[in-house]
Amino acid sequence: MLPQWHLLVGAIFSLLLWPIFGFGSFVIFAASFLVDFDHYLFYVKRTKNCSPFKSYYFMKKLAKNKRKERYLFVFHTMEIWLLLIAASFYSRFVFLIFIGVILHMLFDFIFSNSNKRVFSLIAFLNHRMRKKQNI
Ligand SMILES: [Zn+2]
Repeated sequence: MLPQWHLLVGAIFSLLLWPIFGFGSFVIFAASFLVDFDHYLFYVKRTKNCSPFKSYYFMKKLAKNKRKERYLFVFHTMEIWLLLIAASFYSRFVFLIFIGVILHMLFDFIFSNSNKRVFSLIAFLNHRMRKKQNI
């Protein structure tokens, strides 16, 4: 899902959650679209270019790519979600971030081409090691 849609959906849901979380809704809103910062990190690592605008178009093009290559976006992995869940028991702030991340992921699963993504950091590293060793 494109960032502008995450912004819109995040804003709507944050407003709906305002009666429950008050100013905490801002954290949910910010988390709901800042999760995609890993796309920018992916772009910078791959192209050695820091332009956020070029990154946007690069990611749009990548989403339409027909190659079988799969991509890892670190903040979109279940290991990060598990860390957030665990930390949520100790921090309300992290709990609010977790809600924003879940909101983001929900819409990513519904509207994005999820079959190009790897949702586990461990599975990705395992796959890479096996590929290097030709197993
Ligand atoms: Zn995303």
